[in-house]
Amino acid sequence: MKPVYFDNNATTKVDDKVIDAMAPYFGDLYGNPSSMHTFGGQVHSRIENARQQVSELINAHPEEIIFTSCGTESDNTAIMNALQANPEKRHIITTRVEHPAVLNFCRSMARRGYDVTYLPVDKTGQLSLSDLESAMSDNTAVVSIMSANNETGVIFPIEKIANIVKSGGALFHADAVQAVTKIPIDVNKLSVDMLSISGHKIHAPKGIGALYVKKGTRFSPYMIGGHQEMSRRAGTENVASIIGLGKACELSSKFFDEEHTKIKALRDSLEQGLLESCPDARVNGDIENRLPNTTNISFEYVEGEAILLRLNEFNICASSGSACTSGSLEPSHVLRAMGVPFTAVHGSVRFSLSRYNTEEDIDIVLEKMPEIIKNLRELSPYGR
Ligand code: PLP
Repeated sequence: MKPVYFDNNATTKVDDKVIDAMAPYFGDLYGNPSSMHTFGGQVHSRIENARQQVSELINAHPEEIIFTSCGTESDNTAIMNALQANPEKRHIITTRVEHPAVLNFCRSMARRGYDVTYLPVDKTGQLSLSDLESAMSDNTAVVSIMSANNETGVIFPIEKIANIVKSGGALFHADAVQAVTKIPIDVNKLSVDMLSISGHKIHAPKGIGALYVKKGTRFSPYMIGGHQEMSRRAGTENVASIIGLGKACELSSKFFDEEHTKIKALRDSLEQGLLESCPDARVNGDIENRLPNTTNISFEYVEGEAILLRLNEFNICASSGSACTSGSLEPSHVLRAMGVPFTAVHGSVRFSLSRYNTEEDIDIVLEKMPEIIKNLRELSPYGR
């Protein structure tokens, strides 16, 4: 049975056109792009074409794109590169609401003796630019801040952040894994030094990512070995996935406006419908500055996991702000940083949409959810 899929910030369906573009590289076009012969060389030229497609999506030059294995590798590489390029500087700035790909990497750098500032957010999930200004110092090597939050969809003012970071003399990395293809990203306008992309969030396969590195930025590779990617990322290229990422970027540029109007309208009608039909529900995050595909809703006095399990019985896929680890409930670090009350943090559910969602999907959720919430509240330990 086809799922009613509202978990597109976790991963997306690979577009059929992307699969078609990739298929030859599992078959006849199996050459190694680094080989001297024409058979391998033709694969090399297709990789360069994909690099062009990725660069066009964010208005970069093709040579500023490095293919990686995922968003996590792009994030780790960017921060590590900044630290290695500026060994005299020992300070990193990030936020409390980053994805673990940044947050846990910074924590590991802290264990190696780096000083890390984790900027707070307000109750809408927004940063204070003056906090950033005060945290900057001559010792700051890199500021790594996400373009949009994976849990709430809250968009940070990357252009303003970049200006502060640049005037403070540090490198700026934007984790744009959730933002690319959902909002316009122009690296020149944003004046970022490095920016991360992940394939599986944008209808390309899992296990492929890209890192934009602005021309002129000192770069020391994270993966060391052969001379692939102009000696910036060693390892034989994941050719088929690179081709797929290129195709996904091309498709997204073509249909950007049309898709986003549709996705946002669907998201808004889902959100409105849930708020109207389920009492004690609230939206988490800055609703004015949010990705068009994401809504994070807290249903007070119920557990998010319980809601997900009940939705799962109807093959409806969403995700919860909290993760159940070894039997203990660990509430979302993002919602906690926003100061969302305990009863609401635990009852949060994220719905994230894509071009494949339909009005029928929304109707199914709106039909099931009020009853699910009502039943769970009757069983709730919080006394409702
Ligand atoms: N950054 C953000 C904001 C994300 O949402 C994710 C994945 O959910 C990542 C980084 C990691 O990307 P990947 O799964 O490609 O490693």
